[in-house]
Amino acid sequence: PAFPAERTAIVTGAVSERGIGRATANYLAERGWSIGVVDLDDAACKAVADGLTATYGVKAHGVGANIADEASVRAAIDEIEAALPQVVALANIAGVSSPVGYLDLEPAEWDRVLGVNLNGVHYATRRVAESMVKNRLGRIVNISSVSAQRGGGTFSKTPYSVAKAGVIGLTRATARELGPYDITVNCVSPGPIDTDIMGGTLSQERKDDMVKDLVVNRVGNTRDIAAAIHYFIGEDSGYVSGQTLNVDGGLYMH
Ligand code: NAD
Repeated sequence: PAFPAERTAIVTGAVSERGIGRATANYLAERGWSIGVVDLDDAACKAVADGLTATYGVKAHGVGANIADEASVRAAIDEIEAALPQVVALANIAGVSSPVGYLDLEPAEWDRVLGVNLNGVHYATRRVAESMVKNRLGRIVNISSVSAQRGGGTFSKTPYSVAKAGVIGLTRATARELGPYDITVNCVSPGPIDTDIMGGTLSQERKDDMVKDLVVNRVGNTRDIAAAIHYFIGEDSGYVSGQTLNVDGGLYMH
């Protein structure tokens, strides 16, 4: 089915100023999408939404929600649906890192990371799927990580790899079940991207070190990821579903 002239993309994790979510919200708004901004802090979400409207002239609405809490996610998406045009796309970008080594791991850290990085993707997907099934149209994009495919070896350790591997499974299973309703579900798996997720530990020395393993000789930027997400949510990508696209400078090939 053709896309409606006015359509909304919900972007979770879109507040972080140098983050992938913010870059994606900007990239999509620049291309005419209305944007639903979801992140932890309500006032910050509203400020980002206002900025998108001021810069790109699009409709935007921000709502604070903890993506790890299903009721909070459902309430946020209810509010966005009431405020904006038809939700055609969801970009599940909110996530947390986890530098704790396996032998130091406490149950709370496991639960925190799985809660945000895996359960959160499920909660938002489950909620938007209800509307997309009615509309018989939807595009969902999840963010995994090279850490899922290589068993870590990055800043974040085991629970992060587990959650991000789970995201690939969730992508495939939901793609299969939602496909009959013209909903596609795909995944972008970034390599090292220059954001603040590693808490300022991504020094120049670390960047130089990471680049040694790559085919493309640079750390990735948020626009590299935003462009891949934009492809998957496009009107013309409806025959692509259940896929994981590695946007990682060639770090992982298979
Ligand atoms: P970031 O820290 O800049 O942004 C993450 C955003 O998610 C923040 O705005 C934060 O407030 C939000 N968030 C965190 N917990 C939340 C919660 N419980 N509810 C709602 N929002 C929450 O990080 P980033 O580097 O832009 O990461 C974005 C995504 O990309 C994450 O899923 C991350 O795991 C993934 N990723 C990043 C890299 C990288 O190198 N930066 C590599 C692979 C995957």
